[in-house]
Amino acid sequence: MGGHSTYCDIQYFLDVIIIVQHSRSMMQGAALISVLHCGTTIRKEELSMYSVNRERLLQTFTDLVKISSPSWNEAGVIDYIVKKLKPMKIQAEKIPCGKSHNLLVRIDGEEKRRPALFSCHTDTVVPCENVIPVVTSSRISSDGTTILGADDKAAVAAFIEAITCIHEQKRTHGPLEFLFSCAEEVGLCGIKCFDMSLLKSKIAFVFDSGGEVGKVIIKAPYHSTIDCTVKGKSAHAGMEPEKGVSAIKVLSEIISKLPHGRIDNETTVNVGLISGGSATNIVAEEAYFKLEARSVDSKKLKSIEDDITLIIHSTVKEYNAKAVITRNLEYSGFTIKENDSILGIIHRALGKINITPQHEISGGGSDTNIINRAGIKAVNLSIGMRNVHTKKEYIMIKDLVNGARFVLALIDTV
Ligand SMILES: [Zn+2]
Repeated sequence: MGGHSTYCDIQYFLDVIIIVQHSRSMMQGAALISVLHCGTTIRKEELSMYSVNRERLLQTFTDLVKISSPSWNEAGVIDYIVKKLKPMKIQAEKIPCGKSHNLLVRIDGEEKRRPALFSCHTDTVVPCENVIPVVTSSRISSDGTTILGADDKAAVAAFIEAITCIHEQKRTHGPLEFLFSCAEEVGLCGIKCFDMSLLKSKIAFVFDSGGEVGKVIIKAPYHSTIDCTVKGKSAHAGMEPEKGVSAIKVLSEIISKLPHGRIDNETTVNVGLISGGSATNIVAEEAYFKLEARSVDSKKLKSIEDDITLIIHSTVKEYNAKAVITRNLEYSGFTIKENDSILGIIHRALGKINITPQHEISGGGSDTNIINRAGIKAVNLSIGMRNVHTKKEYIMIKDLVNGARFVLALIDTV
């Protein structure tokens, strides 16, 4: 696909006949109009049932990245989506969440088909003020002073383009739900406060991972955090240090004993925060650290948390100190089995746009984790973003276009 071809050569003519036949039942006018181009040189993919309007998609994407939308301040992006849907008479429901909103878009479809959810998020990490998109013939980046925001505005743009295509081509489809969550980047906050009972769908396609379109995340980790405050005993550091128990000393001993970094191919631990003490002339009474642990295997995560807790307790005991520990499961992981029917749908949809699926394990969480936890089978799919959360973030235009075509193919396949 993607090469140039003379429209009226025999193979191509056969393609046209097939498209015209499809058009009777599905696309009506759209493909017939393409036939009028016979005799000119046209990119073959433009004749595909899953073609999108590249220029319009680029415009939508660059419009979106120029709108600043740090977590909890997504109003500009939300209003942009609502405005784009309005001429198509598609209602979008703004559902309050903290000081922002989740946006739910429902599009009625043939009731005999199964409803499907498409989900992405409207916030970005910082710095995201005054993003200047730099568009070359093959890719889009920022000017290097900010992030780009393809995470996750590439998905927002792809959803808008796919919705516009089904509307203008009068394509048939099942009941569709599009969820644009807020505050994903600061702990999946938007999706966590969303009432899942509002959804009819039992399957979900979340577009929020990076790399080439076709990448399918089939496993993502459970993620927990441990807060620990070590309590020692203060004393004057110069006059009677032997009367004190330094919380900082005990804390450093604990940290030196902890498992850390990559534990195995699906488990990681990281101490990310420490603080403590009040002055150099005081033996520190309190010290604090916080760590996270992740594993796609919930049993491994539990066992590593137990090990950590044991190390803390035994070390404070040794020094006659105390520890207050808080364990918190931030979100659950998920595993999609290789024979799950959702993967069948994804593979068929990718086949329609001539892309080979690649299954991968993610080390990060996304809205997908929360949606799965709520009993809706959800898979995280790549939307083409690269170097996310850095000023070197970019997206290949080919991936931006393929992302929108993939959404269209999924809508058709479900
Ligand atoms: Zn994201």
